[in-house]
Amino acid sequence: MKSSPEPEDQAEIDELLRAAVRCALDSADFEVALSEYRKLLPEVAPSLVAQMPSVEEARRAIAYAMFREVWNRVPRPDHDWRPRPLPKPERNGPCPCGSGDKYKQCCGPLAGASPLGGESMSLLSYVLERVPMAQYVNLPFSKLSPEELGHVASQWLEEGLWEETVALLEPLLAATARLDARHEYAFDMLCETYLELDRPARRLQLVERLMQSTDRTLKAAAMHRRCTMLADAGDYSAAWQLFKEAQRVDPENPSLAQLEVVLLISQGELGAAQERARFWAARLKKLGYGGEKIVELMEEVARDPSSFAAAMDSGDDMDGLTSLWYSLLAWFARFRRRLATTACSRGKAMPDRCKPMRN
Ligand SMILES: [Zn+2]
Repeated sequence: MKSSPEPEDQAEIDELLRAAVRCALDSADFEVALSEYRKLLPEVAPSLVAQMPSVEEARRAIAYAMFREVWNRVPRPDHDWRPRPLPKPERNGPCPCGSGDKYKQCCGPLAGASPLGGESMSLLSYVLERVPMAQYVNLPFSKLSPEELGHVASQWLEEGLWEETVALLEPLLAATARLDARHEYAFDMLCETYLELDRPARRLQLVERLMQSTDRTLKAAAMHRRCTMLADAGDYSAAWQLFKEAQRVDPENPSLAQLEVVLLISQGELGAAQERARFWAARLKKLGYGGEKIVELMEEVARDPSSFAAAMDSGDDMDGLTSLWYSLLAWFARFRRRLATTACSRGKAMPDRCKPMRN
């Protein structure tokens, strides 16, 4: 297996989801939308289609399962931004994939499968792409998840869609009194976007405003951000003063560990950083963060403080589309196995060993 998919493979998954969302939103009729999607599939995702099993009924079932998942999960602007999932098909009725077989003998056994990642998949960015940027200010933010909007923003930030990110996040974060811990990620993303756009005054204004938040987590996040800005500017005495204040506001916030160690290392105090990292590793474990990345990081700094910067930079986590690419290929393999094992048992109950595997 390749160590990472080619960029064009990732672009294919992106196009495949974009096309599926377009089909799902453009037609109110599932069958019409599915047939449109099946037509588009070879065009938008040729190399993925080439890796599907060659049997027509398997291709039909795969296209149906992928599209059903998108249909059931896509937030619909004309339905209060909520999805409108399909009713469960009749067991003895014709299969909605269009094979002509009974559902229970066709796609029924794979009804629980989520080829595109289920709960963890977000389609919101594809829906928002269809909304003109000037209208983001009118989005019903109380109905959208601030975490998911933060996730969309992180994708857009990576793609260089900075003006879009600002247009989305500024109205989301406008009413300080209504913001809470769920907005922390969006706040971070907007700070990052201002950095990219070189708008230091806007960034400072945002950070100082959220430092006034009544939500402890959000207030602490803004203070931490301000702290690193002060350190970047070389004003360590102000940075440490604010660090102590942030510690009073939210003493059990795990980000304090990283912040303190970063401040010490950027001042060149590796010995002190090492000592504090040792302290934080023990304290965070006591607070219940054992096994999490922040504890690993503190232990790493305690072992070798100079490797900290390198550890921070090595973003070896696969991004969403890359891991989705692999899970789709694994899922095709399941289909191949299923066809191989059930070919003998059409029309009869499947023997236990042939039942589809659980996720
Ligand atoms: Zn079917």
